[in-house]
Amino acid sequence: MAKRLFGTNGVRGIINEDMTSELGLRLGKAIGEFFGGSVAIASDTRVSGDMIKSAVSAGLMAVGCRVLDLGTIPTPAIQYFVKTHDHVSGGVMITASHNPPEFNGIKCIAADGTELHRSDEEQIERKYEEDVPCKPWSEVGTRDEVLGAADSYVDAIVSLVDSEKIRSANLVAVLDCANGASYYTAPLLLSKLNVRAITINANPQGEFPGHPSEPTEENLATLIEITKYANANIGIAHDGDADRTVFITDQGKFVSGDKSLALMAEMAVSKKGGGKVVTPVSSSSMVEDVVVRAGGEVIYTAVGSPVVARKMIDTDAIFGGEENGGLIFPEQQYCRDGAMTAAKMLEYIAKNGSLQDGIDSLPAYFTDKRKLECPAEKREALMEHLKGINASRRTDSTDGLKIIYPDGWALLRPSGTEQIFRIYSEAKDAETAEKRGAYYEDIVKDFLKTRKT
Ligand code: MG
Repeated sequence: MAKRLFGTNGVRGIINEDMTSELGLRLGKAIGEFFGGSVAIASDTRVSGDMIKSAVSAGLMAVGCRVLDLGTIPTPAIQYFVKTHDHVSGGVMITASHNPPEFNGIKCIAADGTELHRSDEEQIERKYEEDVPCKPWSEVGTRDEVLGAADSYVDAIVSLVDSEKIRSANLVAVLDCANGASYYTAPLLLSKLNVRAITINANPQGEFPGHPSEPTEENLATLIEITKYANANIGIAHDGDADRTVFITDQGKFVSGDKSLALMAEMAVSKKGGGKVVTPVSSSSMVEDVVVRAGGEVIYTAVGSPVVARKMIDTDAIFGGEENGGLIFPEQQYCRDGAMTAAKMLEYIAKNGSLQDGIDSLPAYFTDKRKLECPAEKREALMEHLKGINASRRTDSTDGLKIIYPDGWALLRPSGTEQIFRIYSEAKDAETAEKRGAYYEDIVKDFLKTRKT
């Protein structure tokens, strides 16, 4: 088997250490051989974006592909371009999402705009290992700059939400682009929806001091302050490549991803009067509570957005997403989309009023998250042990072991790539969630101490 290059979100590494122009060139040839024909490429705002994009483009052309360079745009915008252009056989996004600026990454997009299937990535890995030979001079590819992909992406979103309702609500939003790929599309979307926007961190130069681009409460302190002082209806923050969005309420409170997921799920199911919602087993029970209340059904998957998207296609789901702010609206496309998420949340506010009231209406759950070191060779025996002691309980083995309690759950999950074991628990009050986490932490620790293998 070829060496694994692709992680859960493409190939990632530190620039000029493990993410080099040599790797970009060789991988570009492998990707080009896999897709063939016309391949779209784009990057986020990282300073190394041009270098890696040039290297990958050279590789694509060396094996005869026509490269369509879409410039600096969000990941979902290139996905939308690939999906809506039949002559384009695939796409490559140069991004490391929310990772620090020294990182960059290469992510492949299938012809239908979805993230590439693992078996296809394996094919590319094999081609990378073989090192694809270059074409003769008369067959090398060309490169064209394609303008307007960002604008058509924004226009499509405007057409997919109740834009009249949003426009007439005269909303005020504070927008934080994390100096990332949404610096152009996000302000444009808000202006087209007649939302008065106060925009921060919208410098696409990549090296500007902003804040780390993972949209956590801590990193969004400035956005929270401004949302409060401006008396805005909402604060909106994207991660570096703008496939995810998190929100601040009109009261200046940070909204955790599981809450926006639940609110959007409830809106989708209520609108249709039923339907399926797909989410990983790690999502809060509040999602299932509100979906069932609105007459819908939840389907659980393993953790990871490509799995969620695939399941949505297979089950004809009306909505899906993860608790990290990555939401998927199938009326637009089967991938996480930050701008679509923002537009849908604006629609929610335009129709229902205060976001804080919406959040307060959700059932309350408390989460406890723990991480333990666990040697890879003990993983399997540990999981068997945990299954054994929970044999009489209601469980779900979709990803790790989820033990379902009347008031919540515990999720016991070894990492596939690191020597880490995760224990997540949820309950209706903080004390029970913590107790549940501590209970399983003790069991795991005891097992790891006493068993040699
Ligand atoms: Mg991202």
